Amino acid sequence: MDIEDLKTRILAGERRALARAITLVESGRADHRAQALSLLEALKGHGREALRVGLSGTPGVGKSTFIEAFGMMLTAQGLKVAVLAVDPSSARSGGSILGDKTRMERLSRDKNAFIRPSPSQSQLGGVARRTREAIDLCEAAGFDVVLIETVGVGQSETMVAEMSDLFLLLLAPAGGDELQGVKRGIMEMADILLVNKADGALKSTAVRTCADYAGALRLLRKRPQDPEGFPKAMTVSALEDSGLLTAWEEMQFLADWRRETGQFAGRRAEQARFWFEAEVRERLLARLKREPVKGAMEALARDVEAGGLTPSAAAEELLRDYLQMG
Ligand code: GDP
Repeated sequence: MDIEDLKTRILAGERRALARAITLVESGRADHRAQALSLLEALKGHGREALRVGLSGTPGVGKSTFIEAFGMMLTAQGLKVAVLAVDPSSARSGGSILGDKTRMERLSRDKNAFIRPSPSQSQLGGVARRTREAIDLCEAAGFDVVLIETVGVGQSETMVAEMSDLFLLLLAPAGGDELQGVKRGIMEMADILLVNKADGALKSTAVRTCADYAGALRLLRKRPQDPEGFPKAMTVSALEDSGLLTAWEEMQFLADWRRETGQFAGRRAEQARFWFEAEVRERLLARLKREPVKGAMEALARDVEAGGLTPSAAAEELLRDYLQMG
């Protein structure tokens, strides 16, 4: 593969080149990995900055409906929109595939949009790494907004929040009891809570739910770095395309605030450090599970069990002799 050519075409905003490059970063093959790294390295310093928006919500809450309507609104404003998905469970659950183009048919035909479904489990070379690298590629290709979609389950939300400039949580209109079901940690990560389906018969419930969430947000510790009124709760209807423009204005307001106060760059720097450290940890763990380290560890563990070595001495030996550390 001609990396220099691919780089030129990505910088020219060619969608096919972008799709190929994402396939490259998803590949588990060692030669592909080397090519992916040199491509990402070559693309650094292009000076383009997208707004990275994380979006989470449980299945059925209206994520694809929202992304389609929201994406169409942005492209109508002349913006280029990329949609990526983080769905570590899609292969296992057999549920609907996030980022599936058939879920966003109009947007997928829009020439200013790029939708990338989440890769199947077998291709997965680390969901987080793949997504971060795909975000970088979309940014290099000149996309103005990169939406990163995830399902509302545990770790994938934290992962997406750690790679986004803004984090949105899409919620369903519901009674007070269900409000309790939203984990506090997730509320704390969100910048804007969007209560969807505020239309027709559901409208009044949505308005009430939104007020409940707004109350819950006020009880959380205010983040001192945020402007007044954030994080906030709003109602939208993805189906009727209402509230989306207001939501976008709020997002831009918060993004501008973060840019002006230096938090935007600061967050990205923190995120870069976070992912560097996460990758080091992950690679060290992977080495512990591979031979010869794995075998040596097992042998040392037996020695420790039999009382031949103290746990500390055994740990030191493993690190020194097998991992060449210390
Ligand atoms: P996802 O699983 O989160 O991607 O949810 P979908 O976008 O597939 O939507 C699930 C269902 O909710 C579909 O039947 C949608 O038509 C419906 N839906 C989505 N947004 C709205 C909305 O704003 N109002 C109403 N009434 N229904 C909606």
